[in-house]
Amino acid sequence: MLFAMAHPVTRRTLLRALVGTAAGVGLAGATWSATRGRRTPSKTAGAPSTHSGTTASSTAPPGPLTGIVVGIDPGHNGDNWEHTSYINQSVWNGREEETCDTTGTQEANGYTEAQFAFNVAQYLAATLQAQGATVVLTRTTNSGYGPCITERAGIVNNAGAHVAVSIHADGGPVDGRGFSILEPVASGVNDAVISASQLLGEHVRSAFLSETPMPVSDYYGVNGIVPRDDLGGLNLTTVPKVMVECGNMPNPTDAALLIDPGFQQQAAAALAKAITAFLATSSDHPSKTPVTTT
Ligand SMILES: [Zn+2]
Repeated sequence: MLFAMAHPVTRRTLLRALVGTAAGVGLAGATWSATRGRRTPSKTAGAPSTHSGTTASSTAPPGPLTGIVVGIDPGHNGDNWEHTSYINQSVWNGREEETCDTTGTQEANGYTEAQFAFNVAQYLAATLQAQGATVVLTRTTNSGYGPCITERAGIVNNAGAHVAVSIHADGGPVDGRGFSILEPVASGVNDAVISASQLLGEHVRSAFLSETPMPVSDYYGVNGIVPRDDLGGLNLTTVPKVMVECGNMPNPTDAALLIDPGFQQQAAAALAKAITAFLATSSDHPSKTPVTTT
């Protein structure tokens, strides 16, 4: 779920990019119970997830994606809701002020968008790494908070990713169904990757339709495509990137899919297929030279 709110709070700076690894991929939440209900406060939350520590991947076997860097941004974070002063801080999103992040949405029984996005990201990372890709994740747990949207964009940009996806699920009308793909609008920073991002979006739409049972959104966008000029994750990207609302959490039919590990794996497979197809058709891969945007 992506929307902008402005709250004037002190700007903070986070530390470093994380490089994900397929080793020991933990799919926290894959065994989530529908009876769990609302979350309870964590006793261990204390630092943004970027501080939780992860090691760089060096074990990816050679494969068709060797030499390719893929950015994966699982939207939100599991403890964002406990850290409102942090996530409500105002950041410059390349066009206007936006909050650092939001809590994201959830389905009727409390299963969160943050958990969904994290699980899909882990499946996707493992799939891509098995094909030789280097994967850069903007967060590697679902038990922390942050980083801000600006930091997420910076992590992927600075890694010199060839392509990136941001994984979300929407909080739309209860009777609305389907996935949608949010694409960047020229902001100055992202001008060089607009057309490539649109190409990526076409591949994501095709792959979702072929690899998952989720339909194109019937309430948002045009045939599932939504240009957005108000999101830092898109305004600040210097690599081809789209944000995918993989379904609509308030809708019971969509929610039954979104909480299902089987669907989560299908969504990851669709994204992997789209990324591979994009890389095969795009002729203007960005340089791997790190680019700073903030
Ligand atoms: Zn979201």
